[in-house]
Amino acid sequence: MTRVTPPRRSNEQVTSGNVTIDEAADSTARRPADAPFAWPSLSQGQRAVLLDLILHGPRSRAELTRRTELSRATLSRVTRDLVKHGLIEERGLQNSGRGRPSDVVALRPEAALVMGIELTGETVALAVCDLQGRVLETSDRPFTSHDVDTVLHELTGMVEETRGRHPRLTAVGVCLGADVRMDRGSAVVVDADGLGWDEVPLERLLSRAVRLPVAVTNNVQALTIAHHWFGVGEQTPSLAVIAVGLGIGAGIVLDGELLHGSRGHPGKVSHVRVFGDGRTCDHGHVGCASAYVTMRAMQRNTGHASFDDLVLDVAAHDAAALAAVRQAATALGVVIAQVVNLVDVNRVVLTGQARVIWDVADEALRAALLERLDPAAEPPELLVHPFATTDYAWGAAVSAIRHLV
Ligand SMILES: [Zn+2]
Repeated sequence: MTRVTPPRRSNEQVTSGNVTIDEAADSTARRPADAPFAWPSLSQGQRAVLLDLILHGPRSRAELTRRTELSRATLSRVTRDLVKHGLIEERGLQNSGRGRPSDVVALRPEAALVMGIELTGETVALAVCDLQGRVLETSDRPFTSHDVDTVLHELTGMVEETRGRHPRLTAVGVCLGADVRMDRGSAVVVDADGLGWDEVPLERLLSRAVRLPVAVTNNVQALTIAHHWFGVGEQTPSLAVIAVGLGIGAGIVLDGELLHGSRGHPGKVSHVRVFGDGRTCDHGHVGCASAYVTMRAMQRNTGHASFDDLVLDVAAHDAAALAAVRQAATALGVVIAQVVNLVDVNRVVLTGQARVIWDVADEALRAALLERLDPAAEPPELLVHPFATTDYAWGAAVSAIRHLV
């Protein structure tokens, strides 16, 4: 199985319980000025150019004209305005190695920063990123309140505190394990498992409290956006991100676009029937994926006191622990096959805290995937992304960038 570490992580440091600042990245980010930055209202043409530079890096004017289908005169006006806003810079004539030097423009990733927040009901994780999704700072801490007003108050404090360190903080993304439906252009949290929330207009409430644009997303969806834009699945037209930890979720990108579904949470694969008989999940489904694949299921199936204990026994080659992990891998292979059969993605990213599954039982996973794949389907490329506890917060931050452009 291919293992890929995306370049954005090369400078990143992740800690638990403390704030870690990447000094090198932060000094670059501070160079221009620490003046607050208010995100300007952008025209469609400005958005198109900015998005292209965010996703693809520096471009010549000729390439930008071709890709955005703007006239040369319009492109000139658009780039002049984006330079004026401080979002891009002109690099002058540069040699591309293909004929004449061309006039190049580039994003200024440090022009504005975004903050991502992941809420689980037990912890809150934060990540601060630049406009290219590079992580400048991460932290996580226990946080057990489920009361909406208390959570809002605490989050507002965290945003203000972060803005104190990073005056150019421009937008906030929040992700959580929930459905997220849109109501008049604003995200409403529906059915948040870990928090017991239903119908909470979090986007509107938090945006009002912090006076910044806020984007609220399902956690796996947020991670999928981040991997599609800047991570393992960078700019792949069709992609599924399958995250396995406390639950199993799939985010799907088709033809370059994230599938939203009607309630902001497609890819619900937890209750796929993977075996004809066997264990029953909490909802009474026989042979259900969630009775095998989640961390809690593996732990329960072997009678371990904690998931960490199970992982230790796997490392010690304990037969029962290994069997449970192999069974989880087989079930996960079936789930992946179902996703590929249904939406025909050619790349699948596996990530999440339950990495022991693909670390130990890669062969079982792959065998089940091939066995249950439609005979006419092409096996997908499987990529593994090493998971950090603040990855969902990174995803939320990238969702905030997406919200801005
Ligand atoms: Zn089930």
